[in-house]
Amino acid sequence: MSENTGIGVTPPKKKCNDANCPFHGQLKCHGRVFEGTVISARMTRTVNVEWDRKHYLPKYEGYEKRRTRIKAHNPECLDAREGDHVRISECRPLSKTKHFVVIENLGKERGFEEKLEAREEAKVKSPKKELKEEESPDEGKRK
Ligand SMILES: [Zn+2]
Repeated sequence: MSENTGIGVTPPKKKCNDANCPFHGQLKCHGRVFEGTVISARMTRTVNVEWDRKHYLPKYEGYEKRRTRIKAHNPECLDAREGDHVRISECRPLSKTKHFVVIENLGKERGFEEKLEAREEAKVKSPKKELKEEESPDEGKRK
């Protein structure tokens, strides 16, 4: 087993045979590290991670809420599930839309189901608003 993640995180207790695992495979991590919540784990070894960020609006001298969604590789040893709070790190592109990997599973996020339910309700009321939030991370785009 190699410690080639380059980041100070506790390696998972379980082992796996995933070549794209930062702990047991050959994958090296570099670049940015984020924390977020798994909103979908339906794909094989891939999770959708989402987190809120604030975007500054000089005109109003205040912030608006933006959401970032990113696909991340989910090694078997970490086994992130829907509703888990995870730490992800940038890595080499693993597929067309995937260039992040889960490096730490921080456990279930509290109030995740309530949050999801509230969002579903909001979707019914304003379906167009949800579409806007599918954005690429950072680089604060201005409207
Ligand atoms: Zn592993």
